[in-house]
Amino acid sequence: MADKVELLLDAKSVLGEGALWHAKTQTLYWVDILESLLHIYDPATGRDRAINVGEHVGTVVVRKSGGVMLALKRGFASLDLKTEKVTLIADPEKRADNRFNDGKCDPAGRFWAGTLSYKDTPESGALYRLDKDLTVHRMVEKISCSNGIVWSSDNKTMYYIDSFTMRVDAFDFDVETGNVSNRRTVITAEKGMGFPDGMAIDAEDKLWVAHWDGSSVRRWDPKTGKLLRTIDIPATRVTSCAFGGPKLDKLYVTSATTGLDEATRKRFPTAGGLFLVDPGVTGVLSPEFAG
Ligand code: ZN
Repeated sequence: MADKVELLLDAKSVLGEGALWHAKTQTLYWVDILESLLHIYDPATGRDRAINVGEHVGTVVVRKSGGVMLALKRGFASLDLKTEKVTLIADPEKRADNRFNDGKCDPAGRFWAGTLSYKDTPESGALYRLDKDLTVHRMVEKISCSNGIVWSSDNKTMYYIDSFTMRVDAFDFDVETGNVSNRRTVITAEKGMGFPDGMAIDAEDKLWVAHWDGSSVRRWDPKTGKLLRTIDIPATRVTSCAFGGPKLDKLYVTSATTGLDEATRKRFPTAGGLFLVDPGVTGVLSPEFAG
């Protein structure tokens, strides 16, 4: 039997991404990268607030001291949600042909986000870490399409997706220093599954991966590399997912319409929407930026 998938918002987003649950306000933060929009969706009212942040925005994380942090085209920035003022913090690449993409915070509150090429040039991006003192560190080289990133519940492993590789890789993670080492592949998606994109982790340390051109969110076991479950989403380009709700037992899913031809748009009229599914497990909250 097919899983029940609810269309929350027929957003027709160009490149919906970066789903993140904000527990304090019980709202879902997400972005439309190519429309330069930060969205805040309130499931209690069904209303969605969209804030234009002035340039392409790869992801959003909550900032402990107030407001949110963004990974903009030009680098790390903060946003005051009251005034909607954007303040640039650091642009580690300073190149027009790259932009920042997906990212999240580690268990110590450092903000990790990586880059990709607008021209799909392989290995021209990198993965960066913004520490709470606002210094930037270039952590992983030769990234093609920086995407999902999560940490295990014991804080010892970082899972990371460079979409073009079709893999999820693991690193040993040192929560004290923020250093990573011992990169290895833990999951390899087959061609027909679509590119691994955004990712969330559940309370059993299993990975939930959005599959671009795979019309699905899939649950994977990073210990065995095995596929545990597939939930079909009525959108081909499924981009990110986040656990939310008062019990963290709902899964919010974003999607994209960018690059879809007419026939595919007809086949998937809800492409670009924001969806809700019942994952049957609870997730964990994504940490806030500590700076
Ligand atoms: Zn992504």
